[in-house]
Amino acid sequence: MQEGALLPRPLESDWKWQEAAACRAYPTEMFFHPDGERGPRRKAREANAKAICASCPVISNCREQALALHEPYGIWGGLSEEERVEIINRRERNKRFGLLRGDLETNQEISLQSNSVDSNTNSIAQLA
Ligand code: SF4
Repeated sequence: MQEGALLPRPLESDWKWQEAAACRAYPTEMFFHPDGERGPRRKAREANAKAICASCPVISNCREQALALHEPYGIWGGLSEEERVEIINRRERNKRFGLLRGDLETNQEISLQSNSVDSNTNSIAQLA
């Protein structure tokens, strides 16, 4: 069997939006920091990249893909590396909290049902 034959084929719709990317007209160095770049120089480069993203017609597609793929480097969808990590962590916290809240609600429902069964049992016991 050919390697990768069982993997799903990439869909054209998954990447087609990239053809409209505003950054295609600019050098990639504007979006990815060189080794050791820090401080005001880095901030200035990121601000310029984000300004291009702000005018990009596919910023939503780009941002969600970068977040979904946990893109580790560069400006994507107008977000820096640190901003993406913050959003990803917040989404995961919210997801966990949502699940936890769902568990609590389920436990409360079970508790309420249990109380209802107990009161029914008591009612039945009183009738008996
Ligand atoms: S949002 Fe920015 S990084 Fe993403 S495709 Fe548009 S210009 Fe490029």
